[in-house]
Amino acid sequence: MTSTTDASRGRLRPAGRRRRRPRRLSTHAATGGLVAVLLVLTVFSVLAAVANARAATRAEQSAAVSEWSDQAERSLLLMEESADQLAVEDDAEVREEYGAASAATRSALQELGAVSGTGHDELVGGWLRLHDSYQQAVEDLIAVAQWDPARAEAYEDEFVDEHYDRLEAVVEDEAREHWLASSLALDSMRHSQELLLVATPAVFGVGLALVGWFTAVLTRSRRETVAQAEQNRQQALHDALTGLPNRTLLRQRGEVALSADGGAAAALMLIDLDRFKEINDTLGHAYGDLVLQAVAGRLRDTVRGTDTVARLGGDEFAILLPTVDGPDAALELARRALAALEAPIEADGVHLDVDGSIGIALSGAHGTDVETLLQNADIAMYAAKDRSLGVCVYDSALNDHSPERLGLLGELRRAIDNGELVLHFQPKVAVPGEQVCGVEALVRWQHPERGLIPPALFIPVAERTPLIRPLTRYVLDAALEQCARWQAGGLELHVAVNVSARNLLDERFVDDVLEVLARRQVPASWLELEVTESAIMADPARAQRILARLAEVGITLSIDDFGAGYTSLAHLKDLPVHQLKIDRSFVAHMAADRSNALIVRSVVELGHNLGLTTVAEGVEDRGTWERLGELGCDVAQGYFLCRPLPAEELALWFDRVRTAAVV
Ligand code: C2E
Ligand code: CA
Ligand code: CA
Repeated sequence: MTSTTDASRGRLRPAGRRRRRPRRLSTHAATGGLVAVLLVLTVFSVLAAVANARAATRAEQSAAVSEWSDQAERSLLLMEESADQLAVEDDAEVREEYGAASAATRSALQELGAVSGTGHDELVGGWLRLHDSYQQAVEDLIAVAQWDPARAEAYEDEFVDEHYDRLEAVVEDEAREHWLASSLALDSMRHSQELLLVATPAVFGVGLALVGWFTAVLTRSRRETVAQAEQNRQQALHDALTGLPNRTLLRQRGEVALSADGGAAAALMLIDLDRFKEINDTLGHAYGDLVLQAVAGRLRDTVRGTDTVARLGGDEFAILLPTVDGPDAALELARRALAALEAPIEADGVHLDVDGSIGIALSGAHGTDVETLLQNADIAMYAAKDRSLGVCVYDSALNDHSPERLGLLGELRRAIDNGELVLHFQPKVAVPGEQVCGVEALVRWQHPERGLIPPALFIPVAERTPLIRPLTRYVLDAALEQCARWQAGGLELHVAVNVSARNLLDERFVDDVLEVLARRQVPASWLELEVTESAIMADPARAQRILARLAEVGITLSIDDFGAGYTSLAHLKDLPVHQLKIDRSFVAHMAADRSNALIVRSVVELGHNLGLTTVAEGVEDRGTWERLGELGCDVAQGYFLCRPLPAEELALWFDRVRTAAVV
């Protein structure tokens, strides 16, 4: 997969969860309010009930008090009437009536004391004493009447009535007191009843309003929770910056497409932007974001509504076509998508060029599950990028993830550490004058079991992995070490090292080169770096930047395999290069093939017009060598002159050519 940029990653952070706290607060407030209202209502009812109960007890008590005080008054009256008769005549029957009335009065007073409540013992004692003294006064009255009837009336008025009045007064007082208390209790009961009458509907109304509010809040909060859950789901399945489905949603839709019945295949395309990191790095993330949004829009406009455009992260997009009529239809759509990206993107007044590479995998032929399709589309996309094809449909031959490849990588890593990589050097000879002007370092793998392995078998594999960095560093180091040794032996030989496309995408590459030059103490002007056209075209702006830094320190730069790729002349004249190495396929056949000879001639002319040295590689025979001389080519390289050789053997070759002409 492509690397994802931090910038775009940073923007994928989910938006903050908002407004949860206040909603929860109001829910709590509503519940609290409701509870408070219910509490007030309950307290109210309890207080009212207590007041009612108390008033009822009071009423009951005061009824009893009034009954017993009536009783006491009635029997007291009977007592007085009997006493009045006894004062006239001491009749036995009347005395009996008197005794009964007195006993009834006494017991009525005791009952009255009892119903009047606690703490009345002393009071009742006083009443009984009053009763006794009244009785005593009546006894005295009867005696006075018998002894002196004339005085009886006066005695009664003077002594007896006073006792009677006092006893009657206490009974009346007690009754009045109770009547007062009970009417007060009734008053308070009426009061609380009235209050309850007004307050109950009011409090009930408030409670009802609160319940309504509470229900509304609860419903709203439930609705918001549902909406929030939906929003979270959307966020989890979509890219925040472009709003496109993300990898998860793409996978889900891919699974649905694969499980659908029907004959048509599904197609999965991976799209990687070629110049995105450059824009992000040089212009800033704001521009990068605008580009990604514009790309998202253009891709979306290219596809049907049933297709899915997804952003997988960084500058990597994907298109899922749930049904497609074979590879050609998928290819056509991919080309349309690339064409849509072609027009410059205007971001904040700046016109930005972005290109893309698309890899296609079809269900059935290239995988039966989404994961495999993604992997294979990725492999096809890399192939498209590497070969500057634009679009590439997956083919099992592209699959670098074979077990052999993985095993090879592990071994290669160890080979670098164990120094199993060796360099052969092939001389570059000036066509006029036949002077050796430098050597090209070509790596080989001296495998302990398999013998000498040519670079074509392991370089392309290493080039797709980070292993190419230590490998290139190793070759640079070994080449410059040899260069320093030749220098020490009096031989001034420029040495050329091949640089892979991936090295040119690595910003650390320049520092690696400078570090090795410093360590081996070789002047930068003795080092040549050979870069292929396709390596430059993988990311021209970045390549140009890195090449400029290398040229600045005095390193010679060659474009390798020139003519085989698609380097536009417009690009060529802006590149800080010094040499064009004409691809050996043109050179090897130039003697036999007129059009190849024409190409070589035009490249030589083009190079000269641009002020560049031209080098022909793959010179295998004298005819070619001579023809190159006629065409004005500056330098030649090839088996006809010398095969790539280990340093020691090359020394012998030097000895030979010093004594003889090169050819
Ligand atoms: P290249 O850079 O184009 O290297 C020239 C290739 O042509 C070499 O193959 C060389 O042996 C071969 N050659 C030279 N003269 C003739 C000739 O007259 N006829 C024919 N048919 N071939 C000739 P080699 O050494 O097998 O390297 C193959 C490729 O591997 C190189 O192509 C280069 O792209 C890559 N390579 C080699 N060493 C390195 C390295 O250290 N780093 C990287 N990145 N690539 C390397
Ligand atoms: Ca080369
Ligand atoms: Ca070459």
